[in-house]
Amino acid sequence: MNYQELKEKLNLENIKYAENYELAPMTTLKIGGPARLYIELNDIPSAQKTIKLVSESGLPVFFLGGGSNLLIADEGFDGIVIKNKIEGISILNDSGNSNDLKVDNVEQQEKEEQKKLEARLMQVETDKYLSFDALNYDESDKEHIYVKVYSGTLLSYTIDQLIKNGITGLQWFAGIPGTIGGAVFNNIHGGTYYLSQYLAEIEIIDNNGDIKVLKVNDLDLDYDYSKLQESKSFILSAKLKLYKGDKEKAKDTAIKWAQSKVRVQPYNSAGSSFKNITKEEALKNNFLSNGWGYIIEKELDLKGFKYNGAQISTKHAAFVENLGSAKAEDVLYLFDLIYDKAKEKYNLTPKSEIFFLGFPLERIKKFL
Ligand SMILES: Cc1cc2nc3c(=O)[nH]c(=O)nc-3n(C[C@H](O)[C@H](O)[C@H](O)COP(=O)(O)OP(=O)(O)OC[C@H]3O[C@@H](n4cnc5c(N)ncnc54)[C@H](O)[C@@H]3O)c2cc1C
Repeated sequence: MNYQELKEKLNLENIKYAENYELAPMTTLKIGGPARLYIELNDIPSAQKTIKLVSESGLPVFFLGGGSNLLIADEGFDGIVIKNKIEGISILNDSGNSNDLKVDNVEQQEKEEQKKLEARLMQVETDKYLSFDALNYDESDKEHIYVKVYSGTLLSYTIDQLIKNGITGLQWFAGIPGTIGGAVFNNIHGGTYYLSQYLAEIEIIDNNGDIKVLKVNDLDLDYDYSKLQESKSFILSAKLKLYKGDKEKAKDTAIKWAQSKVRVQPYNSAGSSFKNITKEEALKNNFLSNGWGYIIEKELDLKGFKYNGAQISTKHAAFVENLGSAKAEDVLYLFDLIYDKAKEKYNLTPKSEIFFLGFPLERIKKFL
């Protein structure tokens, strides 16, 4: 199917679209050219129709959440961008198949404990890098409660609303921008926690427009990874297993954690540029940390390096900032610089924690 045929079908179904739609304002980096076709999803039935039609077209498609983990090419995206605006939070009274969920969650927690050992920062220079230990506490003795959150809901809003209702567990993810869909897609990490530790199941809309339920163990959740990154299915909702916890303590933690993030991380970025190296790689090189903030600042001496409108952040060297006029190519120039120096000096190959849209594969392949 070509674009003309798709547009005719969208018209027949009364699905609104825009052409040559500017995407930069929809990202935290504020960089990138337009989408050839742009569609917003506002409700489930039209989302099902849209996804079915677009899948049938065989044209390139990209699901956009909060745009907080994304670098879009200066030329834009020669395809269809589907912006997710399906929002809502419901507190579930019935805990469903609680036996299965309990087993899933324990296994997942064990898996994540293992990941934590390997991938989390060894805390150094806590005035510059975030120290989580002082805020961390255990609430696993609290009663569980299940909540369903639609994927277009902002994570920050979700945390806020749930805590107001006495539902805790997500306070560790305070200060992370983006939507619930993006959070699931990337299995976000906050402090020493992963979202997967609180995830029971998700709903997706498949290529036929049908809603399917996937259990947490079907998602291969890992550090910055979910199977959804391969399947490219649209995440519709997440069922979270949270706590009837101490709401004042959770609120206080969320505020303090978000404040400390804001203090040390630049929000005119797309998040941390590269995935932590393993603890073993760090030890082999005599590094004091396995995080790129430390490596870029102390080992590569690139903190604050500027190229046109882009800069390796002076707040936290793991982040590349848009100082106002940066192009995607300026950001990639800095990525190349870090990559080349890390490779040359330590034989490390930095892997991107950011997703790319609209670039030729050859340009970004080395970071994937
Ligand atoms: C200042 C700052 C701090 C950050 N701190 C952290 C942190 O502490 N921990 C952390 O893990 N991340 C962090 N991030 C990265 C980012 O905020 C998260 O990864 C966030 O979850 C991305 O969500 P989003 O909705 O913005 O996704 P987007 O950037 O819109 O998309 C990211 C990817 O998710 C896919 N996606 C989004 N929604 C859906 C959906 N409904 N269905 C299918 N695919 C979907 C997109 O196609 C894309 O591939 C930070 C970013 C910034 C700017």
